[in-house]
Amino acid sequence: MSTTAVDTLRSQVSGTVVAPGDADYEAARKVYNGMIDKRPAAVVRCNGSADVAAVVRLARAEGLDLSVRGGGHSAPGFGTNDGGLVIDLSPLQDVVVSPDAQTAIAGGGCTWSTFNDATYAAGLATTGGIIGSTGIAGLTLGGGIGYLARQYGLSCDNLLRAEVVTADGEVLTASERDHRDLFWALRGGGGNFGVVTQFEYQLHPVADIYGGPIAYPADRADDVLRFYRDYIAEAPESFGGFVGFHLAPPLPFLPDEWHFKNICLGVTCWTGPMDQGEKMVQPFLDVVEPVGSMVGPMPYPALNTAFDPLLPAGLQGYWKASFARGLSDDAIAVHADYGARVPSIQTAVHLYPINGAVQRVADDATAFAYRDVDFAPVIAGMWDNPADNDANIEWVRGYYDALRPYSVDGGYINFMDSDDQSRIKANYRGNFDRLGAIKAEYDPTNLFHLNQNIQPRP
Ligand code: FAD
Repeated sequence: MSTTAVDTLRSQVSGTVVAPGDADYEAARKVYNGMIDKRPAAVVRCNGSADVAAVVRLARAEGLDLSVRGGGHSAPGFGTNDGGLVIDLSPLQDVVVSPDAQTAIAGGGCTWSTFNDATYAAGLATTGGIIGSTGIAGLTLGGGIGYLARQYGLSCDNLLRAEVVTADGEVLTASERDHRDLFWALRGGGGNFGVVTQFEYQLHPVADIYGGPIAYPADRADDVLRFYRDYIAEAPESFGGFVGFHLAPPLPFLPDEWHFKNICLGVTCWTGPMDQGEKMVQPFLDVVEPVGSMVGPMPYPALNTAFDPLLPAGLQGYWKASFARGLSDDAIAVHADYGARVPSIQTAVHLYPINGAVQRVADDATAFAYRDVDFAPVIAGMWDNPADNDANIEWVRGYYDALRPYSVDGGYINFMDSDDQSRIKANYRGNFDRLGAIKAEYDPTNLFHLNQNIQPRP
């Protein structure tokens, strides 16, 4: 892109255009995954839908690649590219809460910590991610799994309305009333259909929760996972939480001798009456003697940011995931084996429950197609040193391959990496054809292709 074209772009938008040579270009071109090293022609920090529409039109007119960046967390680094344009929505951080209606309208660049803080002030929350720095945009558009999902459904199930800039630069409202097909596709179909500049969510009365992390010796993981499998199938829906594997972080609730050792982790979150919290969490403390725990009453946003310091931007990252139906003893044996060999302090293996309110929505009611599974396991490889890339990627792939006999074909698009594009049909199964048709209507030239891509299919 020529300097004249960049200058023209600057004259067309109210936000900042950052181009090669500018002081903050190095920061602007980067995304959360430090493995992604791409150099776009310009990053446009958009101030609203008019800016977004201007960038969309230019990308289309010039035939440039176009990335759309919300929180920038996608493992494959879809929020940046080589030689194209980036729509960076980070200036759009406003959250307006309507306490009476129990709804919130949030800008497309908002992160969950900003969102949760704003809704907490009104004693309200909706299902969001477990890390504060993740974008509401990518997470919601792909589905959205979090502590409140068993009780209130996925994040996308709580989406009431979206303001969308389409591939031809039009600004639309998508909801159950307007552009219903588009609204259906946005709830699980990812960033394929347009740029969402504003999200409106249903909120619920959730403020303080009872829960927190509990660490167990990794060699007792089979007992913990068997317990969790049975507990989470029957637990009241006000209980959210997951189990997984980590290296023990050097935090005060864990004894020094356990720091950096392999642990199995349970994270609990009870949103029901506070005086029942202890009773709900106690079985997690009884199943195996914990190495340490930090359980008690806390604000919902505190649990959702508890792990943020462990996961700063810039880590190397490689992820794999598939949904699982049931959790057999053989699958648990695979988890216990690989989980006990988590190779880095930032790597997280989590087994999120898919049940309760998530399963009460039909598979074809939104684009998110896997409501009939039981778990969404993710092997989220993250580490510091690029010299460790090969070893860490090999461990993630080995774990994933070993789990394949116990997994369904499809996975959650938000847990997928750049080498998962071939799985797109399996990820959407019965919804795939309808998504292709909606894509053909709203983005016939596949302008929005830097995502888990659904090709237009008239
Ligand atoms: P981005 O990289 O900005 O975007 C991701 C995708 O969405 C890209 O394809 C992008 O083009 C598209 N997109 C972004 N913004 C918009 C927009 N406004 N309009 C249209 N398209 C857009 N997932 C969960 O479900 N639950 C979790 O608890 C959870 N925890 C996570 C923790 C970490 C540390 C990380 C790295 C990821 C986590 N994820 C979780 C996965 C997360 O849902 C995905 O990485 C998601 O894509 C992040 O959204 P983003 O806006 O931050 O990412």
